[in-house]
Amino acid sequence: MNKEVRVRFAPSPTGALHIGGVRTALYNYLFARKTKGKFLLRIEDTDQTRFVPGAEEYIKESLDWLGITPDESPWNPGDCGPYRQSERKPIYMQYAMDLVEKGHAYYAFDTAEELEAMRERLTAARVVSPQYNSITRTQMKNSLTLPEDEVKARLASGEPYVIRIKIPRKEEVRLNDMIRGWVMVHSSTLDDKVLMKSDGMPTYHLANIVDDHLMGITHVIRGEEWLPSAPLHVLLYRYLGWEETMPQFAHLPLLLKPDGNGKLSKRDADKHGFPVFPMDWTDPNTGEKAMGFREQGYLKEAVINFLAFLGWNPGDHREMFTLDELVEAFSIERIGKSGTKFDINKAKWYNEQYLRAKSDQELAAYLIADLEKEGIQIEEEKAAKIAHIMKERATFPADLWKEGKFMLIAPKEFDESVASKKWNQEAVTVLNTYKEKLSAFSGDFTPEAAKNILEAAAEANGIKLGKVMQAVRLAATGVGAGPDLMAVFSIIGKDELINRISYALAQLPVQG
Ligand code: GLU
Repeated sequence: MNKEVRVRFAPSPTGALHIGGVRTALYNYLFARKTKGKFLLRIEDTDQTRFVPGAEEYIKESLDWLGITPDESPWNPGDCGPYRQSERKPIYMQYAMDLVEKGHAYYAFDTAEELEAMRERLTAARVVSPQYNSITRTQMKNSLTLPEDEVKARLASGEPYVIRIKIPRKEEVRLNDMIRGWVMVHSSTLDDKVLMKSDGMPTYHLANIVDDHLMGITHVIRGEEWLPSAPLHVLLYRYLGWEETMPQFAHLPLLLKPDGNGKLSKRDADKHGFPVFPMDWTDPNTGEKAMGFREQGYLKEAVINFLAFLGWNPGDHREMFTLDELVEAFSIERIGKSGTKFDINKAKWYNEQYLRAKSDQELAAYLIADLEKEGIQIEEEKAAKIAHIMKERATFPADLWKEGKFMLIAPKEFDESVASKKWNQEAVTVLNTYKEKLSAFSGDFTPEAAKNILEAAAEANGIKLGKVMQAVRLAATGVGAGPDLMAVFSIIGKDELINRISYALAQLPVQG
């Protein structure tokens, strides 16, 4: 029997979770559900200098909002906690020591000034990327170059040190990425990364490998920006004796700017006025604000569907997928290698589809909430009717009110460009007759009734209804276009319609 799949999302709480991170979480979630495995969340907070208060709560709330809550996390721990690396601090040193003892890592005592001097020396010698590596380490102050006694003495005296990995000089490091296939890197291009810092905290690289191992992670699904670190991670698994159970890697394609030129950034978002974060965020240190999909009126179903398609496709023409349907259809094989353009219009399109799929009652709730903010009371039945005719024209729930305001508030002004073209004697004649006929009408004012009476008013004057229709709309709504007018009339009601027509007739002078 195959081992249970265990995947993890491992964000660092250094600010608002970027939408690319949410996509990574989503793909991990989908893969876990699809394979009946577990989806873990681990907070990678070993870099205390980059810790931002509130960032962890932001991650939790974002995932909860979207319905991709992890099975194990700091807030819902399983058997392999703690799930915050800062709380796992005592675990890591033994593994670093194991590597030192096996000769795969070493102590380094170089000061910041000495490291800087090394970089300057190499830069002067025209070395393109000056690094602490298999060549330069031979000239530095470490346990490979210093006599054993001196190393012991330095350690005993409490001198600060770091532990670095000893990258082999000439070796081909290979890994089989589930998305990219075989990736090969020559070890001479890798540097001797720090594994343990002088403050006793592990770096990302060591903590990540130790934790993935101890937490039984079977697949590492993460962003492409981590691909360059993967060969180092493979070496760590090997040196720690865990190569047999090393997780499989899947590096997700980059999210690109809308024009496809370069990585998507917050700057693009600000420039074009679209969100790249799941929720609103204010940086507690700088006060800088970022807008979120949620507050902009995106529905969670739309965000999930949109994100799923940023790098994955089902292999056919279907585009609409609920979270459960995504679980069913998802496979890592169908994730592309190349970067995906971030097209906000697609997100809007999804939002429109999901908004329209909601019942009138659900939409009425949005409308009622928006109206309450403006101190306007409305019956649920009426709100549902308004929502019903407005939903075809709305992208966001707030549009129901923004675009449908005229249903509850009579126009005080009239669109000048429509008035100048369409407001004429014929329109005035038909509207006067319509008003009279409406006053005389006492039945149920359905859309059909509104239409029949209007047709009768036009006919009585020998005027074609089509010629005056836009003027009729202008009189009742103040603008020249909108949803089904007879449905609008039925909702605003006969008396209100008569008032509106009277007002328009009094306000608008007849054009020549
Ligand atoms: N802590 C890393 C990040 O912030 C995790 C990378 C990984 O998944 O290995 O993205």
